[in-house]
Amino acid sequence: MPRAALLIFTDLDGSLLDHHSYSWAPASAWLAQLRRANIPLIINSSKTRAEVSALSAELGTSDAPCVVENGAAILLPPRWRQQQEGAVVTLGADIGHIRRVLAELRAQGFAFEGFGDVTPQRVAEWTGLPLPKAKLAWQREATEPLLWHENEQRLEAFTQALAQHQLTTVRGGRFVHVMAKDVDKGRALIWLKARYSTLFGHQCRCLALGDGANDIAMLSAADMPVLIRNDASRVQLPRELKARCYLTREAGPTGWCEGLDHWLRKV
Ligand SMILES: [Mg+2]
Repeated sequence: MPRAALLIFTDLDGSLLDHHSYSWAPASAWLAQLRRANIPLIINSSKTRAEVSALSAELGTSDAPCVVENGAAILLPPRWRQQQEGAVVTLGADIGHIRRVLAELRAQGFAFEGFGDVTPQRVAEWTGLPLPKAKLAWQREATEPLLWHENEQRLEAFTQALAQHQLTTVRGGRFVHVMAKDVDKGRALIWLKARYSTLFGHQCRCLALGDGANDIAMLSAADMPVLIRNDASRVQLPRELKARCYLTREAGPTGWCEGLDHWLRKV
């Protein structure tokens, strides 16, 4: 049972993990300190459940919840569940619903290929990932990446058709991601904060660390936000957030520690 009324949410790539080496070594001392203080470290990532689970075990965060697929699904360890709940809670829509809607839209003439239409081998070709990693990215809970085979105007029509099913599109680099409307890393933080107070009978404060545009909603929802330096993609923060967000001087896990030092010197 968490004693300290504090939850820490973290992005992975470019935040807890170094952008190039994927190492979190500089954060080891802080990770150990959080474990000793019984403070849940909650991964909040665009990665899938399968991609995150091995890493979560290595980091020693398996007994904390974990947010995957950009806030669309939350993995709950047993003591964070309520009656009837399974290990995965999806916010808005699960992959079964999304794929049924996509099948309908394909029947209406929209042309696209989703991860659910192809093998992991094909996903490896699309993404450039080695096959074992492509297999992990291929297993979806609540978002479907697709290759769009028509023009922008048709994508607009497709997005409008999805809206009738409370779904939307989010543009990634190569893929268009189909997911529930109004779902992001910030909504997932708010959901877990509420679940914490339901389960443990008191409020908690949330510290969040991220380095990308898809982390802004999470940082905005946090009491103690940390934007980690990322020279490759400078993130523009909304004015309200900029005024209270700690911006690190260092990138990656070194910056991550700097953010914790700033907010938690006394833990
Ligand atoms: Mg990142």
